[in-house]
Amino acid sequence: MPFIPQVPGSAPEVRVRDTASGELVPAASGDDVTLYVCGITPYDATHLGHAATYVTFDLLGRVLRDSGHTVRYVQNITDIDDPLLERAERDGVDWRDLATREIALFREDMTALAVIPPDEYLGAVESIPTFVGPIEKLVADGWAYAVAAPDASRDGALDYYFDVAKDPRFGSVSHLDEAGMLEVFEERGGDPDRAGKRNRLDALLWRAHREGEPEWDGGSLGSGRPGWHIECACIALDHLGVPVDVQGGGTDLIFPHHEMSAAHARALSGSTSFAGAFVHQGMVGLDGEKMSKSKGNLVLVSTLRREGVDPMAIRLVLLARHHSHDWIYQDDQLVEAQQRLDTWRKALSGNGGPVADQTVDDIRAALADDLDSPRALDAVDRWASQALSRGGDDPGAPGVLGRALDALLGVRL
Ligand code: ZN
Repeated sequence: MPFIPQVPGSAPEVRVRDTASGELVPAASGDDVTLYVCGITPYDATHLGHAATYVTFDLLGRVLRDSGHTVRYVQNITDIDDPLLERAERDGVDWRDLATREIALFREDMTALAVIPPDEYLGAVESIPTFVGPIEKLVADGWAYAVAAPDASRDGALDYYFDVAKDPRFGSVSHLDEAGMLEVFEERGGDPDRAGKRNRLDALLWRAHREGEPEWDGGSLGSGRPGWHIECACIALDHLGVPVDVQGGGTDLIFPHHEMSAAHARALSGSTSFAGAFVHQGMVGLDGEKMSKSKGNLVLVSTLRREGVDPMAIRLVLLARHHSHDWIYQDDQLVEAQQRLDTWRKALSGNGGPVADQTVDDIRAALADDLDSPRALDAVDRWASQALSRGGDDPGAPGVLGRALDALLGVRL
């Protein structure tokens, strides 16, 4: 946890746009705020799309702390999943070594971008023993059912699926109709055509061991490995309790991942909702397409860092776009961000400047309004422009604003 300076003045209530209701809602339900953000699958390095997500939720944590809340932030790592195993096999490396290497690089990238680490950062693998009991409970309570797995390594082995038809609230996060769900289900890890499922959208909870795949003790489920969505449901239940205040991730997680984890967690807890707000980061594209590992059109944070780009300029590129918008990355955005950073540094290095109280209020108001970071940056630009063109006679102003940039925006000059 880095040192976060105190900023004078007071902060307004933070509101965020909840994907499930479409409304602006308070991000905090009480003094203690719980934040669950879906982490990476560590088979490739952090690209700007990931960085945008984790900077957005870092911003949320910062403004909530500034408004007097205690923030408890949990993030998972999907360190066992089909894409990781496929990549390890393709590259001829052990999947554990691949995951370890990419997790280390991700953490370095996050540190460079001044992202405050989560309070708990939990791998799926280390948490598997805590998933088995809940899956057994879902089976016992009639939420889940077994499907024969004839290609498993043991005769009579079973896979387990969540029965979405049992859940009257299924669809309450994404509001997609069945056709809309099916459209993205397969490309985002689902198996709509698996024989023996009751509904094409039913999600895998536990996969029986197959030859050549890693396996863990699954108690009465038999040896195997967990499905993706149940991991987040269980980790959130165990480490935060539900409903969490905010469930975060990219818009590509709305369905099926967040819909399914929410369904699993509601079924396990009896809670009517999984999160007070579902907050989603828009997709970052390159050359007109969504940046993704499968398309190979990635701008990696680690590559930019190696090229000598100031991580704070990378952070400013991300903050200059509203988190809810999709946007296309272009190199000139980095040039603009570096210029902005240089201007701010110059303005803040003076012996004084215009009184900064209103600017700090404007930053807080913008961020409290669904994390409107572009508007917050505009407020800093106005102050810097005044300071450089007309100066100012408040000797404390650069210090106050510098602390606000550090504490609220995570921009260290
Ligand atoms: Zn998740």
